[in-house]
Amino acid sequence: MKKNTWLLMILFGLGICSAFGQHRTTDDIFGERNEVYFSFHLDDLSLIPMLSRIISLDDLDPASGKVYAYANREAWEEFLDHGTGYEILTPPSMLTRDIRMVDKVDLRNLNDWDFYPTYDGYVDMMNQYAADYPDICEVFSIGGTYHERDILVAKISDNAGVREAEPQFFYTSSMHGDETAGYVLMLRLIDHLLSNYGEDPRITHMVDNIEIWINPLANPDGAYASGNSNIYGATRYNAQGVDLNRNFPDPEDGPHPDGNAWQIETRAFMDVAEENQFAMSCNIHGGAEVANYPWDTWWFPTADEDWWIYVCREYADTAQLYSPPGYFSGFNNGITNGYAWYTISGGRQDYMTYFHQGREFTLEISNTKLVPASQLPDLWEYNYRSFLNYMEQVLYGVTGTVTDKDSQDPLRAEVFVLDHEEDSSWVYSGSEHGNYYRLLYEGSYDIRFSSPGYIPEIVENVMVTNRDATDLNIALTHQFSGMEEMQGTDFNIYPNPVSGNYFLVTCRDEIIDVYVMDITGKEIFHQSGIHEHRAFVETSGWINGPYVVLIYTPGGIYSGKLEII
Ligand SMILES: [Zn+2]
Repeated sequence: MKKNTWLLMILFGLGICSAFGQHRTTDDIFGERNEVYFSFHLDDLSLIPMLSRIISLDDLDPASGKVYAYANREAWEEFLDHGTGYEILTPPSMLTRDIRMVDKVDLRNLNDWDFYPTYDGYVDMMNQYAADYPDICEVFSIGGTYHERDILVAKISDNAGVREAEPQFFYTSSMHGDETAGYVLMLRLIDHLLSNYGEDPRITHMVDNIEIWINPLANPDGAYASGNSNIYGATRYNAQGVDLNRNFPDPEDGPHPDGNAWQIETRAFMDVAEENQFAMSCNIHGGAEVANYPWDTWWFPTADEDWWIYVCREYADTAQLYSPPGYFSGFNNGITNGYAWYTISGGRQDYMTYFHQGREFTLEISNTKLVPASQLPDLWEYNYRSFLNYMEQVLYGVTGTVTDKDSQDPLRAEVFVLDHEEDSSWVYSGSEHGNYYRLLYEGSYDIRFSSPGYIPEIVENVMVTNRDATDLNIALTHQFSGMEEMQGTDFNIYPNPVSGNYFLVTCRDEIIDVYVMDITGKEIFHQSGIHEHRAFVETSGWINGPYVVLIYTPGGIYSGKLEII
């Protein structure tokens, strides 16, 4: 929470504040809402990682030690056991009445975008886009929620129904249901891309060459916690009182860093991450104005810190250029490494970046969480160029296809930048088209292409220029080894080699058992009765070196090599 939110609270919230005052029992607090928003003082900031596992830290001011947080009932009771003084605050989604809900949106005569749609209005808008632009837009649900709302995606690309040799890009917003600005801005971005296709050359080029996924509302149960007709009173959490952006598998803290089962919404995003190969993505939030890039969980930088600073700087600089002074200037003038702000575990940003070779940052788009409807057009004006810039970056870096030299069939290969890669930063070419996207800051790089059963190839001095693509197509020579690995479309290990504490095994078939053996054949790990398409294996304490991973599925046994470094 920032100053202008305080001002809003003073202006609008005084009357409501008493209702959220101090002399309330836990039953009172959780009588109507499944979460509480509060602040407290913390003298010892080293307690943050511990607290972060109990409650949802939302913001903190290191100078004063003031922390803003949310908790569900269970977490609240645990927090009270620690005996810290606190102040219960008015939920951010109840600080403004300037919401303007619209049920029937006339897309053809829509200019102002100064409203929030009702849930039904939102579904209608999405379906209308698919109906109006059938060649370049598909709309589908990636999963239902506890209250049977849909997590909708608009997929925008030429030949939208076909998986082409194009990079996949994913924007999603409002995983915290009370951070609503990105929700409307993403609907408007869909509209902007579709209505400018064929007219604006830059937009046309992007739609023709990128498979763009836009999910305006990742947590509809939270946004419409008060009912389908209003977002007033929206909650951060989903219907089960879980913070979805703490519920993802974490590279440091394992599959369930928050102690909760994967929520229905989390599973939906995990499924699409496994079924697709998003080269870049962005998770839009509110409550601050900053581009927050990986890692959130680790203090050290990613291999691509210079690229992250460059794309996030571009985002912030462009947003600042088209907004009044002061906007999007949080932390280091609009950008921060996640850990430098405050560490979290279980965020989607680190999950996508570590387990899926993606590049995801968390965009905090407005200091105010539930932005008054009348301010939404301004926020669009401040941000839409930055939305496009970030999306366009997926077309740059080193890109091309990897094929088999003899058959010319596409090949799934590891694309590894020598003396550069760290912690799962390398990428893979897709098995269907052999296409790969290694986004890099400008410079000269040596890149190794390798695939099991093929002679690896190293290309030296590959020059990369910012905002430009370096095309590099590679044909690898098959070398029969007698030890063909079965990794590929059906079975994968991420990351490999493993430098963190966990790796992920995915399989198209249901995984029943996972075994890991060292090179002497000694069993190091065994988990049975999994019945999932994925398994996370903790590697803490394993000595560095090669291992063999074996999985049993109803359809057969798969094996692959694994390296711990
Ligand atoms: Zn958030």
